[in-house]
Amino acid sequence: MPRDNVVLQCTDCKSRNYVTTKNKKTSKERLEFKKFCGRCRKHTDHKETK
Ligand SMILES: [Zn+2]
Repeated sequence: MPRDNVVLQCTDCKSRNYVTTKNKKTSKERLEFKKFCGRCRKHTDHKETK
């Protein structure tokens, strides 16, 4: 199973808030989620980082 850990980073303050996994064979696009950021204290866009 080629599932890899990916880190989701807040696009506002750049803090790394979430870790998830994804299947690189089925999702080649960079992940992007709306998540709560504890540092911004609001929901922000979180993008995949390495
Ligand atoms: Zn933030």
